[in-house]
Amino acid sequence: MVTLTDAVWQEIVAHAEATYPEECCGVVIARSGKEEAIRITNIQNLLHARDPETFPRTARTAYSMRYEEVAPLLEEAYRGTVKLVAFYHSHPEHDAYFSAEDRAAAAGWLDDPNYAAAAQVVVSVRDGRVVDAKAFLWNAEHSDFEPVPLVVGQS
Ligand SMILES: [Zn+2]
Repeated sequence: MVTLTDAVWQEIVAHAEATYPEECCGVVIARSGKEEAIRITNIQNLLHARDPETFPRTARTAYSMRYEEVAPLLEEAYRGTVKLVAFYHSHPEHDAYFSAEDRAAAAGWLDDPNYAAAAQVVVSVRDGRVVDAKAFLWNAEHSDFEPVPLVVGQS
């Protein structure tokens, strides 16, 4: 089960609707027990413009987190000053499934248990409004991400 505070959930919804019709991406961290959603810039359009053969997808159907923004959070997680609760991104005009591309992107990080313990949250946005969300956790026994209940609690 993955539990997000109401404030974090509202921030993810606001982010996903703000970047529509492009994908948003970000990280939910817990610092001193307090959860917060951190928006990360999706640089997929930049990658696509520079090298469309390597990056055939635009930000409408893919995301790439800007490394300079996410790296400090990963460093803090490594040092133990923050806990990585979840990575999130949106699917404009698509369902909240965990795609093969999502799996490939996330699996590249699984050698670090900080990342393996973090949930993956995918938000479905239709006509500019968030309509669904699903959470996935790495199951080491099955070597795959599996859907788990996503609960939004009171903050
Ligand atoms: Zn995705």
